[in-house]
Amino acid sequence: MNPKKLFTNRPDPSLKRECGTCTVCCTLPRVVDAETAERSGGNLLSPLPLLPEGKAGYTPCRHLYGQSGDKSGCAGYSGCSRYSERPRVCDEFMCLWKFGLLLGDERRRPDHLGLMLTLDELPTMESEEREEDRVSSLVIDVWEVWEGACRDHPGRGVLDVLIGYSPHPVTIRYYGVPCSLQFKHPSDLLTGAELSRLAREDPRQLARWVRAKIARQELHNPESVYGIKIMEDLDRLERGECVKATFKPRYKT
Ligand code: SF4
Ligand code: SF4
Repeated sequence: MNPKKLFTNRPDPSLKRECGTCTVCCTLPRVVDAETAERSGGNLLSPLPLLPEGKAGYTPCRHLYGQSGDKSGCAGYSGCSRYSERPRVCDEFMCLWKFGLLLGDERRRPDHLGLMLTLDELPTMESEEREEDRVSSLVIDVWEVWEGACRDHPGRGVLDVLIGYSPHPVTIRYYGVPCSLQFKHPSDLLTGAELSRLAREDPRQLARWVRAKIARQELHNPESVYGIKIMEDLDRLERGECVKATFKPRYKT
């Protein structure tokens, strides 16, 4: 696949991208509650104001409405019931397809492609406050919308090009695994499918596995510098609060 047909640095300003019935970003990410956000001091990873009550990862937001039960659809929701007064974090969020950085028609929309791409900023060191260093601290997060989407067509093709040509590190958030993990030793890496299987079938074992890796300093999570996110996500995983979303592949060629 030609990378120029997949990504652009300059989105076409006349491009009008509609979310339509996609509700992936209202479902996959965890949104921290206001109290936790205040403790973290607010930052690019958890901008204020937020959903006051927060929401767990891989769980449809309670403000989504119109679940049709249509099994062919992305969880079957019609949209946000508080769209005109949605929190700033929702208003400002755009996946890279909506933003226009990921090219292509609706087949690349996250609920069709199976991948939601977002741009994140790694916490910068004081010595990295110069603009050029800040650019290099960007990271592309790839969220699996359903299990196996990174491995199978069409997501696999997009991911191969992204990893091959991206000027920024690429982090993969496997389906159901509520934290983005950077592995220090690739040989330690469980396959994404196995991580997702553990998240679904034995979340407590996955949480124990991640905790042990962190204790042995074999895993690094950039969000852990704030001291709140990964451990709370693991607590939620152990309580079985994740992997409730039900997305079905709709993209067919
Ligand atoms: S994931 Fe992208 S296309 Fe889907 S609702 Fe969010 S911004 Fe819109
Ligand atoms: S408040 Fe609305 S826009 Fe924000 S996550 Fe919930 S449903 Fe989506």
